Amino acid sequence: MNVINARLRGRPGLFRIELNGAAIAAIVPQPDVVAPGAADDLDAAQNLVVPPFVEPHIHLDATLTAGEPEWNMSGTLFEGIERWAQRKETTTHDDIKARAKKTIDMLVDHGIQHVRTHVDVTEPGLVALKAMVEVREDVRHLVDLQIVAFPQEGIESYPNGRALMTEAIAIGADVVGGIPHFENTREQGVASLKFLMDLAERSGCLVDVHCDETDDPQSRFLEVLAEEARVRQMGPRVTASHTVAMGSYDNAYCSKLFRLLKRSGINFVSCPTESIHLQGRFDNYPKRRGVTRVAEIDRAGMNVCFGQDSIVDPWYPLGNGNILRILEAGLHICHMLGYEDLQRCLDLITENSARTLNLGERYGIEVGRPANLLLLSAPDDYEMVRSQGHALVSIRHGEVLMRRTPAQVHRRG
Ligand SMILES: [Zn+2]
Repeated sequence: MNVINARLRGRPGLFRIELNGAAIAAIVPQPDVVAPGAADDLDAAQNLVVPPFVEPHIHLDATLTAGEPEWNMSGTLFEGIERWAQRKETTTHDDIKARAKKTIDMLVDHGIQHVRTHVDVTEPGLVALKAMVEVREDVRHLVDLQIVAFPQEGIESYPNGRALMTEAIAIGADVVGGIPHFENTREQGVASLKFLMDLAERSGCLVDVHCDETDDPQSRFLEVLAEEARVRQMGPRVTASHTVAMGSYDNAYCSKLFRLLKRSGINFVSCPTESIHLQGRFDNYPKRRGVTRVAEIDRAGMNVCFGQDSIVDPWYPLGNGNILRILEAGLHICHMLGYEDLQRCLDLITENSARTLNLGERYGIEVGRPANLLLLSAPDDYEMVRSQGHALVSIRHGEVLMRRTPAQVHRRG
């Protein structure tokens, strides 16, 4: 299969991308627009061709459960955790698999082929984790799934928390998670980080911690995570998710913190729609946005990307799998609608996310890499966001996985 009349990000002109089986065989500059020749030519129509979108932060075990058995009436993160604890009592292996697969279909419909899901392991039977390990195999033809062992109710604060985390990694989780700001005390938060970094170092797993997901400016576990990563030289394998307290840190502390963050080399995930919904709930006016410093992290040369976090769960009632919706909202929320940000904003849901997931040479439009790519509906990043564009075709392992027909408008002449 060949993709013709393709634009590539950061390279002028048009290209023909030749796919040979499951790999990209050649990328050939085209002097002019060409008409489709062979029956299996796909015409990009002078629009962008990019590697697949990435979902770096979602909770597939919790999706599609909002209102079961009760709605989150306060809209706070902590009531969400309470509502989820109720729903968790009725989850079954089959229930989790069915909802996860339904959600993955929603992600695939929007051009996502790489997913990192957090899975709650604060449950003695590890039912969700065992189900998700099966889902990871069942959906290999659709997405590459990374599973985070996520201690929703704490490692130190939950009975047998350490043993459950260790068992989850032994069963097959790819990534070690954490939630230090939820632990009962600051000391427990610090101890949980040292424990989970030891576990990751021992097992060779990646790390992704829900870190400082609170408006409390005294929540300062990010410095502990970054220092652990720096000392162990694990930074590129470590991710700090949310870090929304950073939006409430004062600038003097943050300028010191950024020195450490840069030296640590860790990655950041922001879930801007989720955070602006859950945070700021204890404020009168002026009301904080409750998101991390995405633009500042990016401008300091560090790696940051956007995730959806929830789709219709106890924490967030909306969502449809479309990561472009998160990108558009995030650019607004994070003050990133400047000209230069708009020129390269797709980085926040493609290249930066792939780096967070440590995808390496399994990702990107380069000869020899997997034939996984998207045909988009616009010629550049700016126009893609402005027009609220879509992924029109998703190709995986050299075959069409999803094809979207844009809605047509008929206007009276
Ligand atoms: Zn999360």
